[in-house]
Amino acid sequence: MLSLPDLRVRQRDFLLQISRAITAQLDVDEVLRRVLQASAIMTNAQVGLVALSDESGVFVPRATVGLEAEHLPKIAQHLAGVVELLKTEPAREVLEREMQVMAQMINPDLRQALTLPLAFAGRALGLLIVFRAYASTITGDEIQVLQSFADQAAIAVNNAQLYAVVAQERRQLQAILDHSADGVFILDRDLVIRQFNEALVRMTGWSVAEAVGAPHDSIIQWDSGTVGSLREAIEAGYPFNSPVEPAHNTLYVEGDLRQKNGQTLSVGITYAPMLSADNNALAQIVANVRDITNFRQAQETQNTFISVVSHELKTPVAIIKGYAATLQRDDGDWDGEIVRETLKVIEDEADRLTGLIQDLLTASKIQAQRGVSLDLGDVWLPELAERVAARFRSQTTKHPLVLKFQNNYPHVMGDEAKLRQVLENLVSNAIKYSPNGGSIEIGGRYDAQWASVYIRDQGVGIAQADQERIFDRFYRVEGVLRKATPGTGLGLYLAKAIIDAHHGILDVESKLGEGSTFHLRLPRHP
Ligand code: ADP
Repeated sequence: MLSLPDLRVRQRDFLLQISRAITAQLDVDEVLRRVLQASAIMTNAQVGLVALSDESGVFVPRATVGLEAEHLPKIAQHLAGVVELLKTEPAREVLEREMQVMAQMINPDLRQALTLPLAFAGRALGLLIVFRAYASTITGDEIQVLQSFADQAAIAVNNAQLYAVVAQERRQLQAILDHSADGVFILDRDLVIRQFNEALVRMTGWSVAEAVGAPHDSIIQWDSGTVGSLREAIEAGYPFNSPVEPAHNTLYVEGDLRQKNGQTLSVGITYAPMLSADNNALAQIVANVRDITNFRQAQETQNTFISVVSHELKTPVAIIKGYAATLQRDDGDWDGEIVRETLKVIEDEADRLTGLIQDLLTASKIQAQRGVSLDLGDVWLPELAERVAARFRSQTTKHPLVLKFQNNYPHVMGDEAKLRQVLENLVSNAIKYSPNGGSIEIGGRYDAQWASVYIRDQGVGIAQADQERIFDRFYRVEGVLRKATPGTGLGLYLAKAIIDAHHGILDVESKLGEGSTFHLRLPRHP
């Protein structure tokens, strides 16, 4: 037995070693092993173990001394019973008996067990148990020594658990950053980028390595037309310069972001300030970057829609109103012929309005992905083309309409009314966009797979870049003809949707200034 002063000196030495192990951030198991060793030496114990409570509250041995591995499963099992017993605040003798049983399981020579709880801030973390080969009165000093070690162990365990929680939260945050569809970056107080996620790599073309450590303004560069700027806001005292609480004072900047390759992307960036602990200084800024290309396109389409619709609806309504007012004039003494002609104009314009409204409804139905519904039947395209040509011949003298269908042209399955609408639109376009006239050829060919029709004009033609876009909703090629020619930019969009619904193909071949040929192909055996 050590004398009390010796005991104190050794206790102090061990505590020092243990706290060094803790501050050196050694593995928690290593700290527990050292704690256990010190406890055993100080109590003359040959055997000992530290058991920690796992997430489900089960106590599992984590460090042992003088214990054969083969005893561990049995000990663990018995330990579970002891822990249950501890919950009921058992009499000291009961607990001692239980521990004695455990000692016997390990080695019949063991006579006494000392058990101490590992607890931190009132939370039970585990148990420290040492066994010795003789039984003697357990002194208050011994308990004190052991408790000081157990407390150190509890600190190490608590630290490790906190570290695990922090590490887990860090991983979660990193996963959110990595998998977020929005771009996210974090700036330090000097506006240097500290974090840059994968979505941003895709959006900007800058790699994480290039962006992290770079100043904000070298990566976030705007093309013209930006609303707001982080730099200007900071210079004006952001986020402390408004009645909004600084911590909640987000800043929104929207514009065309210049990508690494020089192209641009429409984005909106929301900057959220993070303040220092005393809330007096800007510590970091977390920025969220959203690709708003689709949103902008939708806005543009909506604007086009409004202008097209108002323009296209206004014209027939004005004509109808004008003619109706003329007919109603008291001083007008119209003969029957004039009245008939006037009413015919009113009827035609009303038909135009109906057609336009029908087109808009169909377009919005397609947009809502409800598709074009077909009323299928047997269609013979040469005859349909002839009827369409006949209708337009009465409307134009500058454009001779010529039909050229291959012999024995086959019948196809299709929606006659809708296919007629397609042909009418293509022929109407051929006339509208050939202001200087020229013949228009409607031809038909077929092979084993397809029955095709083409409409060829000698008009203004379509530039390569526009050829991909003329089938888009409301798209009309810029130029003099756009103003001079009525139209909504819906005709080809609807025509393509109708041909798509037939599992066919509609495309164009054209050269600017040299006329255009639209080809439509329908499968012969859909
Ligand atoms: P709209 O004729 O009502 O403007 P469309 O959808 O039918 O709408 O056509 C879209 C655009 O494609 C037209 O505005 C025009 O610029 C261009 N286009 C269509 N057909 C022709 C053609 N045959 N020749 C030249 N340009 C054409």
